[in-house]
Amino acid sequence: MSLTRLPASELVPMLRRGEVSSRQLCRAFLDAASARDPVLGAFLHLDADAVLAAADAADASRARGEAAGLLAGLPVAIKDNLCQRGVPTTCASRMLANFKPPYTAHVVERVIAGGGVPFGKTNLDEFAMGSSTENSAFKTTRNPWDHERIPGGSSGGSAAAVAGCLAPLSLGSDTGGSIRQPASLCGIVGLKPSYGRVSRYGLVAFASSLDQVGPFAHDVTGAAMLLQVVAGHDRRDSTSVDLPVPDYLSTLDQPLAGLRVGVAREFFGPGLDPEVEKAVRGALDAYKSLGASIVEVGLPTSPHAVATYYLVATAEASSNLARYDGVHYGHRTAEKTNLIDLYCKSRGEAFGAEVKRRIMLGTYALSSGYIDAYYTKALKARRLILEDFNKVFAQCDVLAGPTSPTAAFKLGEKSSDPLSMYLSDIYTISCNLAGIAGISIPCGFTASGLPVGLQLQAPAMAEETLLRAARMHEKATGWHTRRPAGA
Ligand code: GLN
Repeated sequence: MSLTRLPASELVPMLRRGEVSSRQLCRAFLDAASARDPVLGAFLHLDADAVLAAADAADASRARGEAAGLLAGLPVAIKDNLCQRGVPTTCASRMLANFKPPYTAHVVERVIAGGGVPFGKTNLDEFAMGSSTENSAFKTTRNPWDHERIPGGSSGGSAAAVAGCLAPLSLGSDTGGSIRQPASLCGIVGLKPSYGRVSRYGLVAFASSLDQVGPFAHDVTGAAMLLQVVAGHDRRDSTSVDLPVPDYLSTLDQPLAGLRVGVAREFFGPGLDPEVEKAVRGALDAYKSLGASIVEVGLPTSPHAVATYYLVATAEASSNLARYDGVHYGHRTAEKTNLIDLYCKSRGEAFGAEVKRRIMLGTYALSSGYIDAYYTKALKARRLILEDFNKVFAQCDVLAGPTSPTAAFKLGEKSSDPLSMYLSDIYTISCNLAGIAGISIPCGFTASGLPVGLQLQAPAMAEETLLRAARMHEKATGWHTRRPAGA
């Protein structure tokens, strides 16, 4: 099997044993990217010289007998809303087309300190707003399983890079599903950590009370490795939680005896594709045969999650994106006659349609006269959603259900219908509103060969349980070992 099809969980031991050097491995992934990324479109920026220089440094440090770090010279692709000093960080927006940050995000620092080699910047929906990566101002990313279909979003480039075997691991961000949904649609593992588990210092803010950074990998072990490297307290993000990080890898393969898997009635409502339902029910059967008990639970507020999210997220986005004013940094119009004109034209020229739609929605929800009816009400609904989860987690250890109501849809299929696009996040959004942890793992394929994802959710800071439960399923089923044709 070619090196690039192997999961991080096999590549890291090979690097440690010296069976492959970081340079050889990075070269293999760079070759794969030059051959196939012109079609897949996962990367916005990939500097082969910088990758190879970092790989050589990792090899030299190993030759000197220094500790290799958990990632031992493994390449890690980075979503292009995470800053890396001196490297373009565009958020797939014309607004930041020429932006090179003067500092590096905490998670990227941790990847480097953990022996990882930053491997290019991946495509996304502009400012992480979207579910298909079609809102990128720069390019289309294709699903490695079917090039006529979207990879999901907003971290579509990071998901396609791993699924298409152009990188063994990648980082994404998840505000309402942007790691789990593309992981599901691309047939890989994607984890959204609990709010506060991972520092967002250097993540370009979208909705600050929801945003989290997390890993993509072919398998649960790979996701656990990358989480281990990036998790932990950081003073530079005031929401980062000061709690010790458990050793996820040491417990990962210990099955959970007496695991209680909660299934909410609401997960199987209208809009759920029958093939997705079948694969998810198959996953529940797999848990039963592993000795887990299935507990039926209710999440009665879940029908309100999408509306709540699109008020909270847009309100916060309208405030966060106010910084792009054409004065400080980012795009500045060439044709200004006065200051107001400078603001309006700079923003008007550089933001795409979806970003503008959200700024307008959010500004409206926060405006005096409407704030109580919309924003404040959404905060109350958010509280009820959290209380629903608290009740449910008294009855079960993890919740299981679909990640996305459908498999990957066709390019262009939903781009003119924002509402149907918003509905593709129906199962992922409440996890962010409640600040809990969620993961998507492969659980089957449709008849036409498109991957289906199982979402597991666990209480805040219970990543260890989440990962162990995910690993149990993976070991028993083996869906994660498939790769798309041509990858
Ligand atoms: N698809 C959702 C949205 O458009 C979630 C995006 C995200 O998690 N960044 O807002």
